Amino acid sequence: MPGPVRIAVLGADGRMGRALIRAVIGAAPRAVLAAASERPGHVSVGKDAGVVAAGERAGVEVTGGLPAKGVADVWIDFTTASVTESVATSAASQGVGLVVGTTGLGTHARAALDVAALHVPIVYAANYSVGVNVMLKLIADATRALGPDYDIEVVETHHRGKKDAPSGTALRLAQELAYASGRDLAAAARYARHGDIGARSSSEIGIQTLRGGDVVGDHTVFFLGNGDRLEITHRASTRDTFAVGAVRAALWVVGCQPGLYDMRNVLGLGL
Ligand code: NAD
Repeated sequence: MPGPVRIAVLGADGRMGRALIRAVIGAAPRAVLAAASERPGHVSVGKDAGVVAAGERAGVEVTGGLPAKGVADVWIDFTTASVTESVATSAASQGVGLVVGTTGLGTHARAALDVAALHVPIVYAANYSVGVNVMLKLIADATRALGPDYDIEVVETHHRGKKDAPSGTALRLAQELAYASGRDLAAAARYARHGDIGARSSSEIGIQTLRGGDVVGDHTVFFLGNGDRLEITHRASTRDTFAVGAVRAALWVVGCQPGLYDMRNVLGLGL
């Protein structure tokens, strides 16, 4: 019987990193926490990762910088957009699988993921919750069934500390809406409205952002018609939902062929 999958958590003392460490420890005996990485010089470097995340020793020290070669089978990256490009390049050169949850990636980081995926298997998803991945299917079905007479708007709300906007999930939802309605998102997306904006055009997809408090992540897609409206909402009440999904992706990706996968592959949703 093969041993547990050795998982490294990158961004170990972040909001998601701490939830990931707890989820990896909770996935024993199938998974084991093999490494925990933070930004060099971070206050948690040198501390026990289990103490940082859950107040109980895990026997793994948080290190500043990426995990050493051979330590882990798969890395889970929930850091910041500027870090993920080098993470992808290093994962490919070390030959480890990669699960990326970091959002707000620029074109260079996206390209680095594509190149790395030629060498190692990578799961990249803007949202690792099962509910959001089912929502992607529901909104595509609704778009096709309701047709062009319904105006489509996406509204997302996150905690005050979130650095990127709109959320990666809102963009992913908008992408699905554009695809299902035969639109080009780059042309259809409307990110802000202010002042004398004139009447709404029927081709646009509005994507609006709210920030505040400790909201883990709410997303609503509005289909606004004449005389009725449909709203499909997902609310995450704890980061654990993303962490458990990302650990599930990490267990799944080990042993896969090199390539870029998403949560639909992991969950077998076949959208
Ligand atoms: P956070 O700011 O709390 O945590 C990020 C952590 O990464 C920090 O502790 C930071 O010090 C660390 N970091 C920075 N540079 C690093 C480096 N070079 N090496 C290792 N660690 C480094 O942010 P968060 O709320 O935990 O979110 C992290 C990312 O995950 C964001 O992009 C967020 O949007 C995304 N996110 C994705 C999902 C999903 O399901 N895909 C869910 C929640 C959050």
